[in-house]
Amino acid sequence: MEKHYKLKNILTHIIESVKKQDFLVYFRKISIIEIQDTKVIFGTVSSFMKDNLEAKFYKTVLEATQKELWEDINLIEFIVDSTIDNPSNTDAVDCQEFYKEIQKNSKLADKKLRNTVSPIEQRAGAHIRYTLWNFVVGADNQLAYSACEAVTKNPGKAYNPLYIYGDVGLGKTHLLQATGNEILKKFKDKKVAYTTADKFITEYVTAVKKRNVEKMREKFREIDVLVIDDVQFLSKKEQTQNELYNIFNLLYDTNKQIIISGDRAPKELTELEPRLRSRFEWGITVDIGKPDFETRLAIIQEKAREKEFMIPHDVAEFIAANVTENVRELEGVLNQMIAEYELTGNTPSLTRIAQKLQKLSFTTDLLGESRHAEKRKISTTIKSYEDIIDAVSKHFGIEKEGILGDNRKKEFMIPRQVSMYLLKTKMNYTYERIGNIFNGRNHASVLYSCNKLEKIIKKDKNLLYEVNAIKDGIGI
Ligand code: ADP
Ligand code: MG
Repeated sequence: MEKHYKLKNILTHIIESVKKQDFLVYFRKISIIEIQDTKVIFGTVSSFMKDNLEAKFYKTVLEATQKELWEDINLIEFIVDSTIDNPSNTDAVDCQEFYKEIQKNSKLADKKLRNTVSPIEQRAGAHIRYTLWNFVVGADNQLAYSACEAVTKNPGKAYNPLYIYGDVGLGKTHLLQATGNEILKKFKDKKVAYTTADKFITEYVTAVKKRNVEKMREKFREIDVLVIDDVQFLSKKEQTQNELYNIFNLLYDTNKQIIISGDRAPKELTELEPRLRSRFEWGITVDIGKPDFETRLAIIQEKAREKEFMIPHDVAEFIAANVTENVRELEGVLNQMIAEYELTGNTPSLTRIAQKLQKLSFTTDLLGESRHAEKRKISTTIKSYEDIIDAVSKHFGIEKEGILGDNRKKEFMIPRQVSMYLLKTKMNYTYERIGNIFNGRNHASVLYSCNKLEKIIKKDKNLLYEVNAIKDGIGI
């Protein structure tokens, strides 16, 4: 039985370093036959399994064994264990069952993370758990990844604060959440909180309204690791910035870890208070760049594996060669392929995907993003105007009635114009229909508002980012 526990620990190390699909396919069932001073003999189900393990995972298994037992082990051997399926063989481990067990445990850890101060954000439609393990490392994100890894080993001490920046869809949120998850896994008693600048603003504004800012501060004071995503959205919110500045100092002075992301380097966040910006630079600042071909290919393969979808190598290469701008787009194409497969049962072929990408012809629209008409068509069928208004209302932290009404103050006008603009450009609503939603306005007034916003976002980059964030949030 002792061998059984040791084997489980060895398998845990292995799971950390091989892909899930490989683990489930190649390990199946395994046992430890014998542990000697410098050698361990493992039992496998068949000679086919034995050959595969030897050829593909010798080093991984050896390293995991050394980690779990002792360094002196320099040899491992696989043999066919004819008793492996006997119920009396209590040393064997069924890897499928074991994997499920591990997953259940890490889901519990996730839940704990979500239940801390601010709930962890779950992007609509995303089922993948963000871990450092399923983050593909390439030349352009290596530094950011390493910094995150260092922080998980020594939160509050290694790099504080850690500031990660880069364009949209390049993995900032993934890295931030993965780092939070990992710290929580390693240090069970640490309080980790993940929030976005948007949520922080809402939380602060609500606290001010309810006159319990002090209570909010108390809450943040308790945190060991504060993760705050997309700080560029704090622009123009002076009071909230001031509050964050105070919380930052409080946490920093007590050696609590702070992890931040933004779409630009702190220096370039010119609309943020200089003193807050300079705090962001106190620790380490690293950027994430666009992944190169190799990394894009590895990411597609990783995502396909996570979704348990077999993607032919030439197809994966073709997508990686053609979808180059951001990882979210890359995932989008893969998801469409999976959806098509589920609907029609056709495995993706190179010709099919080439046609598809050509049809997708990643064109640049007003908001400077690659979008596709087909994608838009899909979204009109699944989103209603209420989803848009809801999202805008949440984003700007104002009531829906304010957006739909007639108040001409700027704080209402902009969200109203943004809503109309999105309904027009992303949902293809007519001006009349939009007018009906907004208190029966006439065609000309809606047209004017849409044009006006279009003009504003051409100049005001921050508002453009906000509009993009709303769109990203609801997937239109
Ligand atoms: P950002 O926050 O920078 O806009 P996200 O973290 O939301 O980007 O990334 C968008 C999607 O791309 C996510 O699903 C994420 O898992 C995926 N992604 C980005 N970079 C990588 C990577 N290097 N490895 C695996 N997945 C990645
Ligand atoms: Mg993000």
